[in-house]
Amino acid sequence: MRSSEIRQSFVDYFRERGHRPVASSPLVPHGDATLLFTNAGMVQFKDYFTGAARPPFPRAVTVQKCLRVSGKHNDLENVGPSPRHHTFFEMLGNFSFGDYFKPEAIEFGWQLATKVWGLAPAHLFASVYEQDDEAAALWRKIAGLPPERIVRCGEKENFWSMGETGPCGPCSEIYVDRRPDLPQVGWAEGTESGRLLEIWNLVFMQFERAAGGPHPILTPLPKPSIDTGAGLERVSAVVAGVESNYDTDLFRPILAGAAALAGTTYGRDAEHDTSLRVIADHLRATAFLLADGVIPSNDGRGYVLRRLLRRAVRHGMRLGFEEPFLCRLLPLVDEAMAGAYAELAATRAASEATIRAEEEKFLATVAIGSRMVQEAIEEAKRAGRRELAGEQVFRLYDTYGLPIQLLREIAEEEKFAVDEAGFERAFAGQRERSRAATGAALRTKQFADLALAKNPEAQTPTRFEGYKKLSVNEGKILAAIGIAVDEKTAGEQISSAEMSEGIPTGASGVLVLDKTVFYAESGGQVGDKGEVRWPGGRAKVVDTTKDNAGRVLHFVEVLDGALQPPHYPLLDLFVSEDHRLPTQRNHTATHLLHAALRQVLGEGVRQAGSLVSPEHLRFDFTYGKPLTDAQQERVVGLVDEWVLKAVPVRITEDRDPKEAIAAGAMALFGEKYGDKVRTVEIPGFSLELCGGCHVENTGEIGPFVLRSERGVASGVRRIEAVTG
Ligand code: ATP
Ligand code: MG
Repeated sequence: MRSSEIRQSFVDYFRERGHRPVASSPLVPHGDATLLFTNAGMVQFKDYFTGAARPPFPRAVTVQKCLRVSGKHNDLENVGPSPRHHTFFEMLGNFSFGDYFKPEAIEFGWQLATKVWGLAPAHLFASVYEQDDEAAALWRKIAGLPPERIVRCGEKENFWSMGETGPCGPCSEIYVDRRPDLPQVGWAEGTESGRLLEIWNLVFMQFERAAGGPHPILTPLPKPSIDTGAGLERVSAVVAGVESNYDTDLFRPILAGAAALAGTTYGRDAEHDTSLRVIADHLRATAFLLADGVIPSNDGRGYVLRRLLRRAVRHGMRLGFEEPFLCRLLPLVDEAMAGAYAELAATRAASEATIRAEEEKFLATVAIGSRMVQEAIEEAKRAGRRELAGEQVFRLYDTYGLPIQLLREIAEEEKFAVDEAGFERAFAGQRERSRAATGAALRTKQFADLALAKNPEAQTPTRFEGYKKLSVNEGKILAAIGIAVDEKTAGEQISSAEMSEGIPTGASGVLVLDKTVFYAESGGQVGDKGEVRWPGGRAKVVDTTKDNAGRVLHFVEVLDGALQPPHYPLLDLFVSEDHRLPTQRNHTATHLLHAALRQVLGEGVRQAGSLVSPEHLRFDFTYGKPLTDAQQERVVGLVDEWVLKAVPVRITEDRDPKEAIAAGAMALFGEKYGDKVRTVEIPGFSLELCGGCHVENTGEIGPFVLRSERGVASGVRRIEAVTG
């Protein structure tokens, strides 16, 4: 069986047994801030297992894209040497949401492995949790496994839990003996060496773990569930009877292509082979991360991607590559996947360009870095030292972005050491400085939270009434926090001592009301400005933001009168037309621009950031090259055309997100959408999920002028434009 057939056989097998095939969720989990990347099939079903949401079907089957490069599951260091670990891999999984349990799960796993995939029953083992007699008995009864091939393991290995609290239970894994021709091997030795290979993990969610003490209480779940995961790469290797995952059709074409480009062959030199495996693995991860909208950057997910790319380039350098090569290998990933992932083809052109730009930049950085390290080494040599100062290495790392590993390698080649302790000290010092800076911002927020906590009404999100009107009367103050700005620090750092309840004349502060017409900054649209008035006073609203609880924070300067507790007046709110109307024009124009770019440059173009203000609009998107004059003209032409058509903008509140996305709405990547979403449609041209403010008719936008087009990061372009 080819890998694509194994992938299909898994879905078919479970579909025939009442499981709903569900598409893989993206590598970036939606609405889960606790997780950087999807690392298992169950991630998209978490809410069904905890009971936070009701599953729409009792059984599901998936082939889930997974990445294990951070957090609890980090296999990065294994990749290269290990024949069975990857950063990116596909996890086959079947799920029961309170439907079937252990007997069926074991039966399904056993049947599929032996009957469909044709694995020899005599070569299979099952591990069970040491106290799970039930599972041990089932393996015996259903699979006919003899006791010596049912291995009992401890809590660390075979007891799974979602977190400190929540669903948990024993698990049971299917292992394959890869060398049954050799004399028997002990469990510890066999699993350690990889001769006994875990291919499939069955998790029996049986208990609910409550918080508390060193011995948390486990209560049996009324409806236990099943979550399983089998790595497609491992199953493919076992079914094909090859030694390593890299010998399967999922990897061979990529390895062969990389080797050919480097003028070598895979399997000739052990060190080169390791580098080729790293390249093949990281290229797959890169292709899928880019396809799911992650862009190389210096923090968060983008940084993980950048590190994977750079690690692959460094291994390429060991093979003698001096020019970008990963971008040239990219098409091989899609080919090896036999077209199972439409997103790869759809994003290929953009991804190729991003990878090329990243490679070029990194190769140039390395060239500069080598020269700088060389100079540092010469200098140290003259001073009679054999070590590079930590402070100096940190500067190269911090200023030029040279990976510390690379610096070490270059130094080592010259038989030089790096003063690691000194480097650590310099590194810690910088971390401390950045922590102090965020501390002040955090304190301001905490103080606001504290003031708001006193008012029970302030616990709900502020009611927004400003989509259709710019003023409203009788806004009730829920909290008014005065901030006395220290002139010396220009307001950059505010301590709680400088904050008070109530805002006196001439002072600045934050207002929270029960309702508002002021739009709080979000989705790229800047916060509204304007004025609030009350009998005997008025205040200027200089900015508007929102906190995590959805409360709108109005930043005000009191011009006349004062807002003092406990008797706050009712306020009349006025958003400035000069601010809001041009902002709305620019926002709708941004949607037109986005749609036009996708028409001219292809569907692979993705929004990578946007800013909508009264003065102008700024739109960042993924694309690898500067736009030609002709492309720019076509983009502007399309926007103009839709402005001149004067189409009414259609806004729909409270739509089901799935339905909206199915209707073609462009969802912003990584954005969390609730149960209900709002869509902004320019019929016939653009449909986006968006909570922002828009014109009623595209004709209001008036002239659209593209002011500039340039690159802001590798693979990311920026357009600035004005309207009206
Ligand atoms: P191992 O101990 O071999 O690292 P694991 O216990 O981390 O495996 P699980 O978390 O139970 O694995 O994941 C379920 C299945 O996913 C495994 O049985 C294996 O087939 C596959 N798998 C896990 N991690 C990887 C990886 N890094 N690369 C490829 N496949 C993997
Ligand atoms: Mg693991």
